[in-house]
Amino acid sequence: MSTSCVFCRIISGEIPSPRILETESAIVIRDIQPQAPTHLLVIPKKHCASLDELFTVSSGAEEAVRSAGELLSIAHRAAQLQGLLPGGFRTVINTGEQGGQTVFHLHVHVLGGRSLAGGFA
Ligand code: AMP
Ligand code: ZN
Repeated sequence: MSTSCVFCRIISGEIPSPRILETESAIVIRDIQPQAPTHLLVIPKKHCASLDELFTVSSGAEEAVRSAGELLSIAHRAAQLQGLLPGGFRTVINTGEQGGQTVFHLHVHVLGGRSLAGGFA
């Protein structure tokens, strides 16, 4: 828990944000500035700055792979619950400043609800 981290403050309940889904290890909320009709954020409860930190600083490669797999599984379940299947959806993880990351607490974006354009940059 980092008191200066907006996602940690959402996880602790200090900043109210309705949960689309919650598991033992993660929450799913709506992005405050949606880029698509459905735009969710899958956020692990344990603070970790980024995907880079997960795989370099965390408690071992096996644990990092397990955590990353769990986040994708929750992303898939949230997309299903929001009716994004079988149509489809996009998952995005921005890593570091050049990767477009603005909140330095690992999260997976889930976007859908319309046909998404190709192109990533
Ligand atoms: P990223 O650029 O990948 O770090 O994404 C951070 C995302 O968090 C952005 O899409 C923001 O709109 C979103 N965001 C920032 N603050 C909040 C908040 N309080 N509640 C929900 N989403 C937020
Ligand atoms: Zn945090």
